[in-house]
Amino acid sequence: MKQSKLFIKTRKEVPADADSINASYLIRACFVQKQMAGVHALLPLGLKVVKKIEDIIRQEMNTIGGQEILMNVLQPKELWDETGRSESAVDILYKFQDSRGKDLLLAPTHEEQVIDIFRSHIKSYKDLPLSLYQFQTKFRNEPRAKSGLLRGREFIMKDMYSFHATEEDFNSYYEKAKAAYLKLFKRFDLNTKLTQASGGIFSEFSHEFQVLTPVGEDTIYYCDKCDYTVNKEIAKVKEGDKCLECDGTIIMDRGIEVGNIFPLSTKYTKAMKTTVKVKDGSEANVIMGCYGIGIERAMATVVETHYDSAKNKMVWPEEIAPFAVHLISLYKNKETEKLYDEFIQKGVEVLYDDRDISAGEKFAEADLVGCPKRIIVSEKSISSGGAEYTDLISGESKIVSMGGVVEVMA
Ligand code: ATP
Ligand code: MG
Repeated sequence: MKQSKLFIKTRKEVPADADSINASYLIRACFVQKQMAGVHALLPLGLKVVKKIEDIIRQEMNTIGGQEILMNVLQPKELWDETGRSESAVDILYKFQDSRGKDLLLAPTHEEQVIDIFRSHIKSYKDLPLSLYQFQTKFRNEPRAKSGLLRGREFIMKDMYSFHATEEDFNSYYEKAKAAYLKLFKRFDLNTKLTQASGGIFSEFSHEFQVLTPVGEDTIYYCDKCDYTVNKEIAKVKEGDKCLECDGTIIMDRGIEVGNIFPLSTKYTKAMKTTVKVKDGSEANVIMGCYGIGIERAMATVVETHYDSAKNKMVWPEEIAPFAVHLISLYKNKETEKLYDEFIQKGVEVLYDDRDISAGEKFAEADLVGCPKRIIVSEKSISSGGAEYTDLISGESKIVSMGGVVEVMA
């Protein structure tokens, strides 16, 4: 894409009401627009990143047998009366009546609806396991809508729900989901710590995927030697203690929960009278798990861990960057135009700064867009033999002949 055509109006000043690095960066770099507290619109660059995050998650969920569906935001309150959550979750629910007096709500999560779909189709253990997921906008009247896009009132979640006839089958699926999560967060270049968290009524633990950073809302205790990691909310250790699983020492840190996996057992299926016929002919409550990832929260966490505020510079991880390469020409010339056409033909996602503005302005904006690879064509680079190629992730920089640029990208 030519930058002269891109919807990008970057700002020099930090927005006055930005409460976090992620919001301040994403707004200044024109990735998102703040509508009100906890509500952000995605602009072309932000939406590109979000779609890439979603595609990676989609690949990994499909790999473990998830099937994508799309449920609804608008839901009847009666459905939520079945689990009692129309009352117990009232603090975060956006509830209202329509003009006919029908009680409705905007879904903050989708256990109720997915079980309603399940029970109207699935009657036998032979159809299990079943795993359904979606990318859907959630609405939560979060009392603490802060930390920019880390905690929204309206946000996209990937939520998956799995259904099983036996505990054994559930456990084996839960382990698959755990591995898929660890793998997909790596693809976002997020180093997640698998953290034990409160598990509710039936199972001992749920698991959170925590990214350690001082801006995280959660307090985490982890071992300096083994993988033992636990959320403060259920911790039986404190900083400096001996690890419960090895002879290591416990360290305290803060983390952002980018995702979680949760054994639900039969909690909601019992409440919603959802059974299947099992082998011996009797009816059994269906066992469930749920698996969430906050999409904007994942993007904001990448910003928190990859944006250098001192240098005003972002470098997006390769797999989720808005463009793979930023082609910057510092003067009008045919060679760069040709290079751009070649990239387009090869299907390389390139952003080409073809504008007639100063080199300083181009570089400042390129640092904000944060493409992981950069190619600069200047009179100086041409006289040294071609274009200046920089891999911003590895730091490698070299002059490449104009004819060799596309290959160096491969
Ligand atoms: P938290 O403890 O941070 O409020 P949660 O326990 O409410 O999260 P779930 O309801 O299980 O989380 O949601 C699944 C995932 O959705 C979370 O792991 C997180 O990544 C994301 N998420 C939850 N609430 C928000 C929010 N208000 N804004 C953005 N993402 C969110
Ligand atoms: Mg919450």
